[in-house]
Amino acid sequence: MAATELLFREDAYLKTATARVVAVHANGIELDRTIFYPTGGGQVGDTGVLVRASGERIAIGDTRKGEADAVMHVPAAGAALPEIGETLTLEIDWARRYALMRLHTALHVMSCVVVAPVTGGNISPDKARLDFDIDMSLLDAAKIADGTNALIARSVDTETVWISDEELDARPELVKTMSVQPPRGAGRVRLLKIPDIDLQPCGGTHVKNIGEIGTIRVTRIRSEGRRNKRVEIALA
Ligand SMILES: [Zn+2]
Repeated sequence: MAATELLFREDAYLKTATARVVAVHANGIELDRTIFYPTGGGQVGDTGVLVRASGERIAIGDTRKGEADAVMHVPAAGAALPEIGETLTLEIDWARRYALMRLHTALHVMSCVVVAPVTGGNISPDKARLDFDIDMSLLDAAKIADGTNALIARSVDTETVWISDEELDARPELVKTMSVQPPRGAGRVRLLKIPDIDLQPCGGTHVKNIGEIGTIRVTRIRSEGRRNKRVEIALA
């Protein structure tokens, strides 16, 4: 396996692209480049289809990281498999991915309303959560929702910025999430910047303007252990 070119890193809004089949493994189809986000950083992998020149559609039920930074496109049960060297048209389930992007970006904003170390997190198409190392008495659902929605209403553009590994090491305060290692590679680290709100390492997919999130609701707050107080949100 070899590193797959990650087109979503430059443009998270790509809904289709073409790519060449590099290999077909037991655990998935490897392409030279992809718009499918593989499960990581708490965000679930993309679903969609790979369309052959004949028009035949190969349903992709999940996307995962393989060895050597390859991306594995996991075919749904019973799906046809492509030939090595074949060129395919990639289509992600955009409605699902866009919901993930909105919720993922919402977690960045919420992490600036609840000021505490993040001990875990997860983003699925219908809900997202962060776990905080904080006292339960400091978590108020209405305050968190109102604070997050007030920041979202600023409707600022997000930016991707890169810093060196050394710069990140010199600024440990940037790493809020203790359970997820920052996405390092080739000596540089990708950061998501929400001007005047948040700056933290992240390899995920985000909306261009936080106004796209709309309004969020806090759906549940509960204790998952001494250092894990879970705040779950959904799009309103
Ligand atoms: Zn992110």
